[in-house]
Amino acid sequence: MSADFQQSGAIRSLFATVAGALGATLLALAVSAVDVPRATAAELAKDLFGNKPLPAALPAQSYGFYSKGCFSGGLAIANDGPTWQAMRPSRNRRWGHPTMIALVEKLSRDAVADGWPGLLLGDISQPRGGPMLTGHASHQIGLDADIWFTPMPDRRLSASERESIGAVSMIKKKGLTVDEKVWTPARARLLKRAASYPEVERILVHPGIKKKLCDTVTGDRRWLQKIRPFWGHDSHFHIRIGCQPGSPDCKRQAATNPGDGCDKSLAWWFTEEPWRPNKDPDAPKARDLMTMAALPKACRVVLNAPSPVSEAAVTYSGPGSAVAAAPFVEPDAAGLPATASAFLPTQDMRVPLPQQRPER
Ligand SMILES: [Zn+2]
Repeated sequence: MSADFQQSGAIRSLFATVAGALGATLLALAVSAVDVPRATAAELAKDLFGNKPLPAALPAQSYGFYSKGCFSGGLAIANDGPTWQAMRPSRNRRWGHPTMIALVEKLSRDAVADGWPGLLLGDISQPRGGPMLTGHASHQIGLDADIWFTPMPDRRLSASERESIGAVSMIKKKGLTVDEKVWTPARARLLKRAASYPEVERILVHPGIKKKLCDTVTGDRRWLQKIRPFWGHDSHFHIRIGCQPGSPDCKRQAATNPGDGCDKSLAWWFTEEPWRPNKDPDAPKARDLMTMAALPKACRVVLNAPSPVSEAAVTYSGPGSAVAAAPFVEPDAAGLPATASAFLPTQDMRVPLPQQRPER
């Protein structure tokens, strides 16, 4: 981990504390102001959250758990940057907690410095999180991001290529081990870099990839503790960061077991049990049943909160980018962020406040 990341982490924490305090006040106001809830408890949360084009213009805060929650104050990572390209833009899932977005951008730069050509980004979260219309049980609180194992090409992909190009599986067809024709040590290096950040608690990969790392990583193997075997994740890996400061209602996940995980828990994945066909393949998935009542109460406030002035105002493209809600803000002498934020509704900030959208 580099010193500048540590530094920026401290700055972000400070910002999150300020933003979190404001958020709690705003939320308390918002809860008392809601007289007629627009979303009834019976409405499916995925339909409500899946149709929000922009984030909730409130300070950054995650509510609930990775697979049952939502978040406010989201930022988008730009579709294009010098060291990344976002895939499947039509899904509008480039959103996350500012720390997650900053971390993805940082990983893209560090990966390039390590010799990787750049990142192809998969899904992060919907603008306000929540269950998705399709795919993913988690990714609901802005703290999960999928990164492809396919390297970024040396040209900008067209909009249609970003929708159609498939990620290449690292696993042999009909097998559980890596395909040696596609797996490379550079991919192990990329995972090691992602695991190096203290914010990252887990990285989910196919068990065959975990096994390959167990069999080949020499020297410091402590980072393997964060690499967790899971279904899917053969053509992309999944970064999960911990609950961030300023999110008291974010539910932490259980700590990973100590050790490198190259043990019985990994061996289980190479038995028949985890791959047994689902007894009831037609049973509905959790996301297809989840109503607003199943989510934390604050998610109703998040859903109904105003949007920021524009998508551009909350899109991050790296340090120095003109995003209004920059995740990296230098504190001024008074300890307040010197940079204006679209999420801080104080009068002395230098950007327009988010405007309430007309009610329908
Ligand atoms: Zn994933």
